[in-house]
Amino acid sequence: MKEFNILLLPGDGIGPEVTAQAELVLQHIAEIHKFNLRLKHGLIGGAAIDEHNDPCPQETLAVAEESDGILLGAVGGPKWDGLPLNERPEKGLLRIRSELGFFANYRPAKVYASLANASPLRSELTKDVDILILRELTGGLYFGEPRGRDTSADAVEDTFAYNTLRYSRKEIERLVTLAFTAAKQRDNRLCSVDKANVLETSVLWREVVNELAKDHPEVTVSHLYVDNAAMQLVRAPASFDVIVTENLFGDILSDLAAQLVGSIGILPSASLRKDSKGLYEPVHGSAPDIAGKNQANPLAAILSAAMMLRYSLQLDEAADHIEAAVTKTLDSGIRSADLLDQDGDSNKQPIGCKELAEAVINNL
Ligand code: NAD
Repeated sequence: MKEFNILLLPGDGIGPEVTAQAELVLQHIAEIHKFNLRLKHGLIGGAAIDEHNDPCPQETLAVAEESDGILLGAVGGPKWDGLPLNERPEKGLLRIRSELGFFANYRPAKVYASLANASPLRSELTKDVDILILRELTGGLYFGEPRGRDTSADAVEDTFAYNTLRYSRKEIERLVTLAFTAAKQRDNRLCSVDKANVLETSVLWREVVNELAKDHPEVTVSHLYVDNAAMQLVRAPASFDVIVTENLFGDILSDLAAQLVGSIGILPSASLRKDSKGLYEPVHGSAPDIAGKNQANPLAAILSAAMMLRYSLQLDEAADHIEAAVTKTLDSGIRSADLLDQDGDSNKQPIGCKELAEAVINNL
């Protein structure tokens, strides 16, 4: 029987609630498809600060490096908001991504037919949406040095803060190469998003995309400035196939894409490096407003677990099986509160996090 080591990092807020449900789904799918998962739990984010005064303890990194796949919930919350940026829970997430070299963040956004009315956009616009956003994850503004705040000025109004946006050719090349591979597995269309009319990093980005395009003549390449990309994602979202972009732009555009599919609560993500190792996590955050109330949608975490089976464990059938069970559950009309909001059907009663996961398991 195949065996895999999986590290679960529930984190904060709704993180533990949604990862607990994804864990149950993983246990069921392992039984059905006859493989063995050795599941370990670790600390990250605020939970790790409370225990070890460190948002990403060395022990977490060591176990993560030894694991075949890592499933993370979410980090952060008001309890830690007063800490300096460098010590906050979110730093733990940035550190595990960068220390383990997970530079390629895959964020699929596909509209489920039964959720056509869940988006605030008209269903004619969103019904054929099937986008893959490939976001650079370990470079750009979030990591660039120097960064900080200068308070040496005599007058308060002269104080300033600064960040550095830096990309190397190598960082761009390795991501864009994966984007061409992804486009070839899909509809052969790649849209690169930058701000090449203003930023030097974007001019380099565009150059690299155009150079690599010569090796992939079957892929139709387009370029959009990020402001226009945001507009086109709302105006004609179904016109996109694969979008490749840098860290900050990808962060923002993928949240926008969340609203095309109805809710951030159903969007999974995978962060990969060159070997098959990966970090899998919902796109959403720790949602402190609904934490501890059994109201969180566990589907993003469950679908992230499915991505882990596909990309890191090469268990495509098991991954397909989970995704089919999620589709069947949504087709049956079952809704968590976040999906009901835009649905316009006031007769429907939302179900909780545990109950929604139970329905998925019944459909497996
Ligand atoms: P958020 O994604 O946590 O929440 C945004 C909105 O979406 C909230 O109204 C929330 O209730 C809702 N929501 C999110 N996930 C949901 C789910 N699974 N089911 C139902 N509704 C859901 O973003 P935020 O409010 O900007 O941030 C809250 C905290 O999370 C902050 O501390 C932030 O730094 C952190 N954060 C963490 C990550 C991460 O761990 N990857 C990502 C984004 C934000």
